Amino acid sequence: MANPSRPVSGFEKLDLSPEMLRSLRRAGYAEPTPVQAGVIPAALDGDDVVGQAQTGTGKTAAFVIPMLELLDVDTKYPEPQAMILVPTRELAMQVHDEFEKLAHGSSLTCAAIYGGTPIRRQIERLRKGANAIVGTPGRVIDHISRRTLKLHDIDMVVLDEADRMLDIGFRPDIEKILRACPEDRQTLLLSATVPPPIEKIARKYMRNPQRLEFSPQKIAASSIDQYYFTVDQDKKFELLDKLIEREKPKQAIIFCRTKRGTDRIYEKLSKKYDKVGVIHGDLPQPVRNRAMSELRDGKIRLLVATDVVGRGIDVSTVSHIVNFDIPQYCDDYIHRVGRTGRMGADGVAYTFVLPDEGEELTRIEMRIDTLLKPAAMPEMDLVAPTARAVEIELDPESLREMEEKKAVQARLGRGRTGRRKRGL
Ligand code: ADP
Ligand code: MG
Repeated sequence: MANPSRPVSGFEKLDLSPEMLRSLRRAGYAEPTPVQAGVIPAALDGDDVVGQAQTGTGKTAAFVIPMLELLDVDTKYPEPQAMILVPTRELAMQVHDEFEKLAHGSSLTCAAIYGGTPIRRQIERLRKGANAIVGTPGRVIDHISRRTLKLHDIDMVVLDEADRMLDIGFRPDIEKILRACPEDRQTLLLSATVPPPIEKIARKYMRNPQRLEFSPQKIAASSIDQYYFTVDQDKKFELLDKLIEREKPKQAIIFCRTKRGTDRIYEKLSKKYDKVGVIHGDLPQPVRNRAMSELRDGKIRLLVATDVVGRGIDVSTVSHIVNFDIPQYCDDYIHRVGRTGRMGADGVAYTFVLPDEGEELTRIEMRIDTLLKPAAMPEMDLVAPTARAVEIELDPESLREMEEKKAVQARLGRGRTGRRKRGL
């Protein structure tokens, strides 16, 4: 029964079931985010969708809501009808939780299938039947080959963090899995970034996908203040230390390039600060899980991490991102920085740039169409004098990039020619 005193929410316009509307209210979701308003109707119509929207804009619910609406409620010991593939175990758990939250009050279930935990329990879980599964590719393939997971009933496949799932690391696994699914299934791809070559590959696995793009211009959320420091390698730790002292972050994630580097920073930080945690791909799964839940509970204030947690993880209390090492791929920058400033909260990101990493920084700035602001730490000498004198010989490729960079600067209405003089 419509209640005249309550305004019709945006979700009610999306033609959702009363059960779904009830659980959305219960979750506290009053209005659909733009990506939800776009993807949900298209998915309910049965269309394939490539959905791109910045981090923290509710892409998970954008596919979970139509999935819940389309799943069969009546089957008693169901084979899965929907499958979500994600790049990390942490993300598998998080998507699983979002599914359970939005499935509240219905009998629909989701099994999480990921590596690093005993396979026995997952086999038991799958035997009981699940309407949907969310998993990492390796473990999903493991279950397919053990015949503990059957995909013949799959109607919908979602690739979350699609660009990562289709890059060269995961693509062979994804191909194997998709070949095991019925051809007439529906396929949804979601990501903050979908570079053109990846989109081309994605189209091979889809049928006339609708491409839905939201705020493509400002890829990193605009509520994030983004700064860079030019700093020598051997000054980075001292700079990090001073930055923590100065900013007193409520919660920070410090991203490093390598697992060893991550461990080293963790050890040094924990000598001085309380509530320091570490997470990277070599740590046993229970340790990784504990770090994530301690981050969520606020028991960890400073988390040192590799890009393992840079993907999709939603912890809204993170106030600071520090890129201790500049990310190797510029899209990783977007994903890392997207860990803060979520759902309109404010965040700040600092990127440490070595004197010879100016090109990397420029590439990031071109990708996000925003210039990072230079930051200062007056009481420190960040760059040794010799490094300042280095002149770079430009090859034709770099010259082309410089031209593009100039075009970006012109568009942004700001000059950038002083950079090398300022230490790069
Ligand atoms: P993304 O995948 O785009 O990075 P997530 O799906 O992780 O974003 O969602 C980010 C946060 O926003 C989550 O905490 C989620 O519960 C919340 N959220 C999602 N949709 C809504 C909505 N319509 N209203 C309010 N909060 C929402
Ligand atoms: Mg996500």
